[in-house]
Amino acid sequence: MKIEEARNYHQIDAVIVGAGLAGLRAALQVAKSGLTAAVITKVYPTRSHSGGAQGGIAAALANVSEDSLEAHMFDTIKGSDYLADQDVVERFVNEALKTVYEFEHMGVPFSRTKDGRINQRPFGGHSQPRACFAQDITGHVLLHTLFEQCLRHNVLFFNEFQVLSLQIKDDVCRGLVAWDIRTGGLHIFQAKAVLLATGGYGRAWKVTSNAHANTGDGVALVLEAGLPLEDMEFVQFHPTGLYKHGILLSEAARGEGAYIVNDKGERFMKTYAAAKMELAPRDVVSRAEQTEINEGRGIQGQDYVYLDLRHLGKEKILSRLPQIHDLALNYLKVDAITDPVPIQPTAHYSMGGIPANLNTEVIKNAAGQVVKGLYTAGEASCLSLHGANRLGTNSLQDAATFGRIAGSHMTDYCRKNAFADLPAKPLEAAQAKIDRLFAGGKERHADIREELQVNMTRNMGVFRNQDGMLKMLAVIKELQDRYQQAGVDDKGLAFNLDLIEALELENLLSFSEVIVEGALARKESRGAHFRSDFPKRDDGNWLKHTLAWRRDGKIVMDYSKAVVIYPQYQPQERKY
Ligand SMILES: Cc1cc2nc3c(=O)[nH]c(=O)nc-3n(C[C@H](O)[C@H](O)[C@H](O)COP(=O)(O)OP(=O)(O)OC[C@H]3O[C@@H](n4cnc5c(N)ncnc54)[C@H](O)[C@@H]3O)c2cc1C
Repeated sequence: MKIEEARNYHQIDAVIVGAGLAGLRAALQVAKSGLTAAVITKVYPTRSHSGGAQGGIAAALANVSEDSLEAHMFDTIKGSDYLADQDVVERFVNEALKTVYEFEHMGVPFSRTKDGRINQRPFGGHSQPRACFAQDITGHVLLHTLFEQCLRHNVLFFNEFQVLSLQIKDDVCRGLVAWDIRTGGLHIFQAKAVLLATGGYGRAWKVTSNAHANTGDGVALVLEAGLPLEDMEFVQFHPTGLYKHGILLSEAARGEGAYIVNDKGERFMKTYAAAKMELAPRDVVSRAEQTEINEGRGIQGQDYVYLDLRHLGKEKILSRLPQIHDLALNYLKVDAITDPVPIQPTAHYSMGGIPANLNTEVIKNAAGQVVKGLYTAGEASCLSLHGANRLGTNSLQDAATFGRIAGSHMTDYCRKNAFADLPAKPLEAAQAKIDRLFAGGKERHADIREELQVNMTRNMGVFRNQDGMLKMLAVIKELQDRYQQAGVDDKGLAFNLDLIEALELENLLSFSEVIVEGALARKESRGAHFRSDFPKRDDGNWLKHTLAWRRDGKIVMDYSKAVVIYPQYQPQERKY
C-alpha cells in the first residue's frame, strides 16, 4: 500500500509541534492566511507549560514610567551577560509592543492602571517596570485567549499526539511521525513547513519548576536528525522555588516588594547586588541564595531561605499574588500573609536550544545554512535572544513574538513550495523505538530517570565544577547504556503512559549529555553558567556561541558562530 493511502496519513500545509504560546501564535498566523495549520501536542493545549507562567510579559509600553525600546534592549543584553545576538534583541523589543496590543485586542484581561491602561510591574534585571500582567496568572490568560482564537480560525488540533521522528532528507523537512497517545498507533504527517515549539527541558533535574511534559523532545529530535544544538550549557535556576517541590513562586512577588532573608533575618542581597537587591537578575540572586545556604546561613542551617511577603499586607497579597498565596498554603501549609515561605533555587529555563536565524528557520551550521521547511520558536529555540541568562517576562514575549514571526515565514514558504516527497520508510525510526520498549528488558525506566534527575540537581546546579561535571558525564553514559535494556510493563495501546515516559527518558538522556559536555568545555563563568573553578567571564576566549552535534555517538562542538554585537552595546562588566 502507498503511504498516502494509509489510514493514519495526513497532508497539511503547516504542522506545528507544541500548543504553548509559541506554537499557538504561529498556528494562528498561518490559519489567518487561509492555509491549513495543524497543531500536534502531547498534552491538551491549555495544559502546556505557558499556562503556568505567572509574572508577566515584557514590553516597553511606558504606561507607568519613562521607558524606552533602547532601555529594554540594553537590559536584555546586559542580562544575557553579552551573549545575546543583538540583532535578535533589537527585533524583539520592537515587535514586543505590537504583540501585547494584539493580545489586548484578542481580549486578554490584563490588569489595569487607575486610568485604564495596561498596568506594568517591576521585574528582575529590568530597569523600568515593564512586565504587563494579569494578577499572577498571566500565562494562563494568554494561553486560553490564543487557544480560543485558534479554534475560531479553524486550526486543526491533534491533541495527545507525541512526535517521535522528523522526516528530513537532503536538508529539506518533509513532515514528521507521531504516536497517538489516546488509542496507540503511529501517524504520518506530510507538511510543507514544520515548526518545533516543544518548550523547555527542566525535567532533566529533580528540583524544577517545569511541567512534567517539559522533557526536551524537540531538541532531542533535532540532535537525532544530525543537526546541532546551541548554547545548551546555559540553564537558568530561579531563586524562588518552593522548598523541596521546586514549584515556582513567581518573581512577581519580589516585583511587588517581597524580601529574601537568611537565618539571621538579613536581606542578604545587600552584599551581592546592593543597587538592585531582590530584583537583580535570576542568576545573581540564585548564586547569592546558594552561597548563603552553602555557608550555613540557610534557615536553621538547612538548604533553604525565606521569601517574606508579610509586609505587603493581606490585601495586596490576595489581589496581586493570589496564586503564590495558594501554592505556599497547599504545598507547604504556610500562610504567606502571616509567615515567611521556605524557598530554594529551582531549574527553570533553558536559554539554549535549536539554533535558528532571525526568520526562525532552523540552521544546520555556523555559516547559517538552513534546513528548508523547518522552523523553531519559543523555549525550544535558541535565536539567541537570551544569551547566557534570560530576564523574567522576556520569555512569554519571546514565544509569542517569534511564534508570530515563524507563522508569517511558514506561510510564505508554504505558498512558494510544493509538498516534498517523504523518505522511503518514514515509520521506521519511530517504530523501532516502540518495538524495542515493548520487547522489554530488565531495567526500569523510572529508576534511570530518577538517577539522572538527582545527579543533575547535584552536579549541574547553580554552581558547577570539573569534578562534578565529569562525574555527571559518567553517570549519563552509564544510564544511556542501561536505557538500552529498559522496557515497559504496560503492553497496551490506549493511554500507555508507561511507554510515553520511557520515550521521554531517551530524550532527557540525549540532550543532558550535550548540556554537560558544553559546560565542561566552556572554561569561564557567564550568566547562568557558573564554574567555581573558572569564576570569571572570559571574553577573550569565550564570547562565542556553542554549536554541538552528536556524531558517531560522541558530542562534537564548533565555536565559529559569532555573537552579533552592535558598536553601542559593547561588553562591560556586569554589576547590579
Ligand atoms: C512556572 C513557570 C512560570 C513562568 N513564568 C513566566 C513569566 O511570568 N513570564 C515569562 O516571560 N516567562 C515565564 N516562564 C517561562 C515561559 O512560561 C516559557 O518559556 C514559555 O511559556 C514557553 O512557551 P513555549 O510555547 O515555547 O512552550 P510550552 O508552553 O512549554 O509548550 C510546549 C508544547 O510542546 C508540546 N510538546 C512537547 N514535546 C512534544 C512532543 N514530543 N510531541 C508533541 N507535542 C510536544 C507540549 O504538549 C506543549 O504543548 C515561566 C515558566 C515556568 C515553568
